[in-house]
Amino acid sequence: NSKYKVVIVGGGTGGCAVASKLSSLGKSCAVVEPSDLHYNQSIWTLVGAGLKGFQSSVRPTREVLPSSIDWIQDKAVTFDPDKNSLELSSGDKILYDYLVVAMGIQLDYDKVDGLLDALDNDPAVASNYSPRWVNKTFPAMQEFRGGNAIFTYPNTPIKCAGAPQKIMYLTEEFLRMNGVRENSNVIFNTAMGVIFGVKKYADALQKVIQSRSIQVNYKHNLVAVYHKKKTAIFAKLDKDNELVPFEYDFLHVTPPMSSPDVLKKSSLVNRGGWVDLSKHTLQHTKYSNVFGLGDCTSLPTSKTAAAATAQCGVLHQNLTAVMQGKEAAPLYDGYASYPLITSREKCILAEFDYNSHPLEIMSVDQGLERKLTYGMKASIMPEIYWQAMKKSKWIGPASARKNLIGPYHGKSRSPKL
Ligand code: FAD
Repeated sequence: NSKYKVVIVGGGTGGCAVASKLSSLGKSCAVVEPSDLHYNQSIWTLVGAGLKGFQSSVRPTREVLPSSIDWIQDKAVTFDPDKNSLELSSGDKILYDYLVVAMGIQLDYDKVDGLLDALDNDPAVASNYSPRWVNKTFPAMQEFRGGNAIFTYPNTPIKCAGAPQKIMYLTEEFLRMNGVRENSNVIFNTAMGVIFGVKKYADALQKVIQSRSIQVNYKHNLVAVYHKKKTAIFAKLDKDNELVPFEYDFLHVTPPMSSPDVLKKSSLVNRGGWVDLSKHTLQHTKYSNVFGLGDCTSLPTSKTAAAATAQCGVLHQNLTAVMQGKEAAPLYDGYASYPLITSREKCILAEFDYNSHPLEIMSVDQGLERKLTYGMKASIMPEIYWQAMKKSKWIGPASARKNLIGPYHGKSRSPKL
């Protein structure tokens, strides 16, 4: 059995960011991460649209984790928080004083009948959400000669709730550039009842949708794909799950998602399967030596890298306080952000808190489509992501933007309790 002061489970965006902060702990800190590749998934929208190469989204895990700490290249398979221990798939047990859970969200492609088969065998079916299929999206856009281009959004919480429509806007623009837009229907079939959760940005997106003649079908949940018939089946959630077939010529799927199975069966989670945290401190509601961040948590904010990195600073502060015998402080206001790319040169930069109040950093109205925010998303943010990980100085997107663009014009970051 190995014993550590801090064990971080998951070395993705959130886990790596916390590891950087804790690098001075040296070998008394370990990260459990099975993959030897680290993905900056935020880049995949641009990869899918043919605007960036896949390699720009990948680095060896060894390069992004601080070399001072231990990297245990394995999966956690069971948690026993009453005994401060967890078990790895190798059968080894790890003991800890403090645990940080950062395991991300699970992609449940298998929950849609025929989808895996379609993704593996139909060149017209793609998904930016997985490194396995993101490289199919651009060829499918190029092959599309007209007909129905359908984009889906599932009936579950997902990461980056903007990504299902970002690829749609980029595709619609590409079809216009290619002269095939007139022969095509661009359709957004979403299980949700609104286009976006924050009214200010939803209103802005509605204008984009109208001006680009995009058809939106709300409460349409993808349940099956029969690729030999080029048909996707949707359940109408507001009509007793009545099934409606849509023929497709291009299909971009955002799969259903859920908390990782390993977590669902542990005592760390709430009834929904998410790591049960106090939403302002990021400390576990039952185990005071357990913290969490990112997509696997119960935090009622959007599951984005921007949120995970904002949470990182709070987690570090509170974990350090608890390690010194102090109380965790209510510091996290739910900050999350989405760069809602609407074309290959424009973006609406949504930033908001737990109350869905816009929490914009810049002095200009971020609800308008802007070239400036596109440049930030496409060029500046990826660079900041990699540089900050490497230099162990992850400061989160809000502070980074503040330094790059000027003084912070928004409200205080402290939660209004
Ligand atoms: P992840 O980064 O997914 O990391 C989870 C880690 O846990 C993984 O490395 C995994 O291998 C590991 N793990 C899983 N199971 C185990 C186990 N049993 N044991 C040990 N380790 C395990 N966010 C933005 O802010 N802006 C964007 O523009 C944006 N665009 C996106 C576009 C797409 C197409 C996608 C897919 C995501 C996008 N995101 C965006 C979301 C962002 O990538 C995630 O929200 C972010 O990566 C969450 O960080 P995390 O650490 O919670 O999870």
